[in-house]
Amino acid sequence: MPRSPTKPLNSTIKIFSAPRFIQAKRDSQEHSDESIKTFINSYVMGEIPDYQVSAWLMATTIRGMSKKETKALTDAMLHSGTILHFHDKTVVDKHSTGGVGDKTSFLCAPIAAAAGVKVPMIAGRGLGHTGGTVDKIEAIPNFNTEIDLDAFSKQLIAYGIVLIGQTGEIAPADKKIYALRDVTGTIESIPLITASIMSKKLAEGAAGIVLDIKVGTGAFMKNLASARKLAISLRETGIRYKKKVTTFLTDMNQPLGSQIGHSLELIECLEILKGLDAPESKDLKELSLQLAAAMIHNAGITKNFATAKKLATEKLENGEALKVFKKLIELQGGDTSYVDDHLKYPIAPIKTSLVASKTGHLKSIEPLSLGLACVEIGGGRKKSTDEIDHSVGITVHKKVGDKVKKGEPLLTFHHHRGQSNQILEIINGLKASCIKISTAKVRPLKLIYEMK
Ligand code: URA
Repeated sequence: MPRSPTKPLNSTIKIFSAPRFIQAKRDSQEHSDESIKTFINSYVMGEIPDYQVSAWLMATTIRGMSKKETKALTDAMLHSGTILHFHDKTVVDKHSTGGVGDKTSFLCAPIAAAAGVKVPMIAGRGLGHTGGTVDKIEAIPNFNTEIDLDAFSKQLIAYGIVLIGQTGEIAPADKKIYALRDVTGTIESIPLITASIMSKKLAEGAAGIVLDIKVGTGAFMKNLASARKLAISLRETGIRYKKKVTTFLTDMNQPLGSQIGHSLELIECLEILKGLDAPESKDLKELSLQLAAAMIHNAGITKNFATAKKLATEKLENGEALKVFKKLIELQGGDTSYVDDHLKYPIAPIKTSLVASKTGHLKSIEPLSLGLACVEIGGGRKKSTDEIDHSVGITVHKKVGDKVKKGEPLLTFHHHRGQSNQILEIINGLKASCIKISTAKVRPLKLIYEMK
């Protein structure tokens, strides 16, 4: 019998090659949707090693991605795990691109939940010089951030608030890639940030998403132009999935609030929830109220933003938000005595201050070096296996525009006995690079640049 001519192998079967995929991005070629999907799925299944994904992440960070590639990457990461559907417009989450001292989730989530929003938070761990919500909440003993999706959904429906870390079930591709990006210098990429944030947020079943895009020297987006591009990319992705997306561009040219470091940041939030807040926490409180208002309005609970803001303020001031926060801790097995007694957190025993070198007005207190200093003393990870020390951190006493007197503390480091030499070195470095004092008056920084 005559045999049909054999077709060349590569015309019938396309064999995926990770090195060729990496080379293609290195050479600025556009990936096909199919190749992105294969790459992501193979990585999740353990068929591609971290070193190849790291190389590809670096090539992507440098070369960028087209809109079509960003869409394919987001879809592949989203479909790498389970996708929840609540079919409820009051399910609204907030996500921040990350900054120094950025802890608004612990405030806006319980405030919004107290106003009737259902908040399904799937949060991240620290990334680069920025702290992560999941690492911070773990300063509360026994708080479980790894509950399964069935329990997650039940808690959300019954109590309107739940907070977990990235699981193997929700966007597992992001969980693996996020950890790699943290330690390979591949965070500052609009397509990678878009796919990372949106794959988690779309998978958690929220109808509305409020995004706080940080802008400035302590943020991954250093200027308004790149932050606007990221906002557009995030909004377009949300619209494609019929989600109501609100984007904020907010300042990260100084730390947010008065504390940097895991336990210190929780203490600051509890002080605000209890009405005991310090004046240096004013920016944190105001931004959290604005974000909570956007969540409330996005959920359709109020007719306009002004009413939502009023409602948010009421829920904070009447103590209902604190009750919701305590309930969240209780529901997920955390020790609620750390909510009742917010001074119970172990804080590193030695305090060393950086003081003003002259009298004048604070011109700059650059957040990136403060975030890195906190990582350096154990309050962050330098490699993915590092343990975090919740007890260390930095208290920020002054904000840009504040009057300062020579010799007055501007920052206080909370550290361990054996770290004194390291702290002195850090302080000397910060004096030269991070702190600037002007004899002329300095305008306070804007908190919110844009909201759409
Ligand atoms: N937050 C995320 O979840 N992902 C990023 O890539 C950056 C901030």
